[in-house]
Amino acid sequence: MLSNVGGRIGRWLNIPVSAVKVSSRLQSTLTDNAPIINLNRPIIGQMENLMDIGSRSIFSEEHDMFRETARKFFREKLQPHHFKWEQDGIVPREIWKLLGEHGFLGITSPEKYGGIGADFLSTVVLWEEQWYAHCTSPDCSLSSDLVLPYIWSYGTEEQKVNYIPKFLSGDIIGSIAMSEPAAGSDLQGIRTNVVKDGDDWVMNGSKVFITNGIAADLVIVVALMDKSVKPAKGMGLFLVEADTPGFTKGKNLSKIGLNGQDTAELFFDNVRLPKSALLGEEENKGWQMLMEQLPVERLKVAVMGQAYSMWMFEETRKYVRERKAFGKTLANLQTIQHKLAEMKTELCIGQAYVDQCILMHLKMAASGGIDHHQASMAKLWITELQNRVATQCLQLHGGWGYMKEYPISRAFCDSRVTTIYAGSNEIMREIIAKDIVA
Ligand SMILES: Cc1cc2nc3c(=O)[nH]c(=O)nc-3n(C[C@H](O)[C@H](O)[C@H](O)COP(=O)(O)OP(=O)(O)OC[C@H]3O[C@@H](n4cnc5c(N)ncnc54)[C@H](O)[C@@H]3O)c2cc1C
Repeated sequence: MLSNVGGRIGRWLNIPVSAVKVSSRLQSTLTDNAPIINLNRPIIGQMENLMDIGSRSIFSEEHDMFRETARKFFREKLQPHHFKWEQDGIVPREIWKLLGEHGFLGITSPEKYGGIGADFLSTVVLWEEQWYAHCTSPDCSLSSDLVLPYIWSYGTEEQKVNYIPKFLSGDIIGSIAMSEPAAGSDLQGIRTNVVKDGDDWVMNGSKVFITNGIAADLVIVVALMDKSVKPAKGMGLFLVEADTPGFTKGKNLSKIGLNGQDTAELFFDNVRLPKSALLGEEENKGWQMLMEQLPVERLKVAVMGQAYSMWMFEETRKYVRERKAFGKTLANLQTIQHKLAEMKTELCIGQAYVDQCILMHLKMAASGGIDHHQASMAKLWITELQNRVATQCLQLHGGWGYMKEYPISRAFCDSRVTTIYAGSNEIMREIIAKDIVA
């Protein structure tokens, strides 16, 4: 079953699966000799539509073919149902299975555990295509590309064998629980903790705002395990299965955007966990693991923010070409043209930096990928661009832009959170500044 998944992706890419190598901690670099700059490809600003396939020097024709398949899938299989999922506040589990059957989950996972070890750029293609399709849910990228890498990067052999294949098939939906009611930006202020009892750990505490929290079958929970030292030196990550006694989920939190993504409070009341629930072999390594994985989470937010901004721009370009006012289309008015011109310019600049960061992540794969400084700059600038674009695009839709049935209204609300989550932009400024003055 799982090797078929590899075969499918191999066919999309039109290359043998073995040609895509897995390497380093992030298992996400190109084949050793593959060119990572294709100078003969146009930049997005040269394309008729910013999302047209075939641009950007970081991609190859193989990626274009994969993109075509992903584009068709997201636009035909997911997009038509998305408004309903937004109203329901969650995506049906069958969709996760469908994603798994099509081989779209955890594509960079090592072949040894049923993955295909695809390159990081193919993951970027998936992230972008989902958002180009105005499909903000399910948050499969969180489960596949943030949660799962913790397991294949740090997990014990037993944890890898037990969980990775189920993530790939869509039988396990994952989430990661760091934030707490009294500790978001200040992660070292968490109170959720474990106490040793014989060979077991007993967990108490609560988490909030956890994406995929309602649907999750497996949650990586950040907890204090040694209170006698600084939190950064005494934290661990625990793999908590949804049916563990004492672990309960609160209600699906009502949000202003990203409404198809379920977001939950989680409660841990004397949850007894076996020794094997600690991620990895060593105690008190949780902070270090988080610090290694957070930059790629921020890069992901930047990639998706850029992709969504391009979708909003194209949606608006289409609208102003059709909408009539004062005997002409809106697109005929110079002030409207100037707004579009400003947005397109910023989007091209944004894409250039995002692509540089993707490249950097590839080049530095052996030492852990993109660093905090660059990833924070990308997250900061792109998410602020995204919010400028969302505001402007809604404005150009007039009153219709304020109506929920118009996708731009939902994109506006979806965009608002990007300056807050994955580390708020104030925290991004702190990280960037620290490096500047160090
Ligand atoms: C839709 C959504 C999904 C989420 N998904 C997840 C998830 O899956 N897992 C998870 O663990 N968390 C998740 N979060 C939580 C998210 O990461 C936090 O909301 C975020 O880190 C901010 O923390 P906070 O909400 O506690 O705000 P606070 O930390 O209370 O901050 C409030 C304000 O103060 C500012 N501030 C705080 N400290 C400083 C400082 N030192 N200098 C300057 N300004 C500062 C912040 O920038 C912010 O503007 C999600 C949140 C949302 C809204």
